[in-house]
Amino acid sequence: MTSIVVHYQEIALKGKNRPWFLGRLVRNLRKALAGLDVTAVRSLMGRIEVVLGPDADVDEVESRVRRVFGIANFSRARRVALDLDAVSSAVLADLADRQVGSFRVSVRRADKRFPLTSPQAEREIGGRIKQARGWPVDLERPELDVRVELLTNEAFYFFDKQRGAGGLPTGTAGKVVCLLSGGIDSPVAAHRMMKRGCSVIFVHFHAYPILSRASIEKARQLVELLTRWQLRSRLYLVPFGELQQQVLLSIPGPMRVVVYRRLMLRIAERIARLRGAQALVTGDVVGQVASQTLENMAVIGGVAGLPIFRPLIGMDKEEITREAIALGSYPISIIPDQDCCTLFTPRNPLTRARAAEIEAAESALSIDDMVATAVSAASPEDVEYPARVSSAGTSTGT
Ligand code: ATP
Ligand code: MG
Repeated sequence: MTSIVVHYQEIALKGKNRPWFLGRLVRNLRKALAGLDVTAVRSLMGRIEVVLGPDADVDEVESRVRRVFGIANFSRARRVALDLDAVSSAVLADLADRQVGSFRVSVRRADKRFPLTSPQAEREIGGRIKQARGWPVDLERPELDVRVELLTNEAFYFFDKQRGAGGLPTGTAGKVVCLLSGGIDSPVAAHRMMKRGCSVIFVHFHAYPILSRASIEKARQLVELLTRWQLRSRLYLVPFGELQQQVLLSIPGPMRVVVYRRLMLRIAERIARLRGAQALVTGDVVGQVASQTLENMAVIGGVAGLPIFRPLIGMDKEEITREAIALGSYPISIIPDQDCCTLFTPRNPLTRARAAEIEAAESALSIDDMVATAVSAASPEDVEYPARVSSAGTSTGT
């Protein structure tokens, strides 16, 4: 096969912004395929062709294409001359060893100037295959569907379609900041936002060195995994333990989780504004844990001056777990760690926080200073996928 033919989500890419979306999708594909033997990624009359070089590892190309958002489906295809004889003989050569119970030919003309209509071209190609192999035609439920696309200067054909990742091309919907714990939920929440075209910046709060580094390592691994979908990420690691020690001194035990969460959101918002992000994202789910009652979420969210998105809000743990397994984040999320939220918190956290009470308690803290200190102590780490090859290293296909 010479190519991977990529079909994008027609509806999502309609309208005035279409060339811009498409340009982004092509760039994302090029970046995702960097280092592989791919000689070009080109936009061609309503589809994209990934041109494979002679040494391309096609399975690896496919597994990377599968993670690029904005793709409806893709196929291993062969490019041939725009000529029905050429198409038919190439198809027959490809199918030399295959026995097929029934088949059909499905033609799409991208350029209506082609002298035959699609049904006429289907009959021409189908007739030649039938004559050569004797396979019966079945238009309803064929065992083999020979799909042919006729463009202006060339034709493609392929036999199987694979599902793409769907969604919108990464980077077309602006930036958001995701509060990433080491848990099961927040990576899934981040992935859902990525699927809608958002570039996700990650913020992880940790209590190292009071607690172990385990949560930091998990956050790094999760970001590395998630970067396979968005290709470039930044993770801010925010030391939170000292702030928690200050909270310990003046906030009653049951209120602390709510106060921690309000601090986290304020810090994340500050980082979001510095980076031009327009919303915050969390993995909150109604009623899953004590901090996630409607009352608490309202009081916690009340501090944010940016919208807070909670893409998992109505999901069951089981559904989220299924998604985490499919994503590959689940094995990382279940590695034991010491979440900073458990530091200095009693077993009986407040489940019905009241804003006035929390605000009164917080007046004992210098919130602005705490937030500013945390933001300046936040250490950014950049991750890229595929990882950059150092200039001394060898890379193919460039
Ligand atoms: P998760 O599985 O995402 O940790 P959870 O069910 O454990 O969620 P909580 O621990 O209450 O729920 O956290 C709710 C949300 O708050 C998380 O989904 C995440 O967005 C944010 N959060 C909690 N702890 C942290 C942390 N240490 N760093 C960054 N964000 C956090
Ligand atoms: Mg958690």
